[in-house]
Amino acid sequence: MNEKHFFLADESDMLAFAERLATQVQASKEAAQQPLTCYLYGELGAGKTTFSRGFIRALGHKGNVKSPTYTLVESYDLAPWQVHHFDLYRLADPEELEFMGIRDYLDSHTIILAEWPQRGAGVLPEPDIKMVIEYAGTAREVTVGALTTRGRELLDKL
Ligand code: ADP
Ligand code: MG
Repeated sequence: MNEKHFFLADESDMLAFAERLATQVQASKEAAQQPLTCYLYGELGAGKTTFSRGFIRALGHKGNVKSPTYTLVESYDLAPWQVHHFDLYRLADPEELEFMGIRDYLDSHTIILAEWPQRGAGVLPEPDIKMVIEYAGTAREVTVGALTTRGRELLDKL
């Protein structure tokens, strides 16, 4: 797995970092035919939702980005993309994802951001990108790993 490390001093750094990834995704529109999946790991308060907010806003969303803690998923229609932001913290069993119709979410032009993907282990597919956010004092250290060719293309440009 290819990996890169990023040091993000504060929230605005995290938002700028998310925007950089979104810009790379936008630059590769021809790749939008395939779903893009990005898994976000990190303790509560690490910045997974903050990253997602920066990413979703950078793709053109103007309103709030609600944490999907209770709804499990919030979806955004950001042409040409459908962005599905999951937070699986409250998922009791990965099978619940089957009942939610997870396969229907993995369509073309789909971007999946998933917080707490470990709760969906065995049902969620392997991601293109895996991000681990760790506390570094008041800052954050982010490790981005690419697991697919698409993921590597994006990571190379970050
Ligand atoms: P999570 O979704 O991982 O539980 P949130 O994104 O909801 O975390 O919350 C992260 C909190 O940490 C926010 O209050 C944010 O302002 C704060 N924060 C401080 N420094 C950073 C940083 N470098 N990156 C992201 N968030 C940060
Ligand atoms: Mg969160």
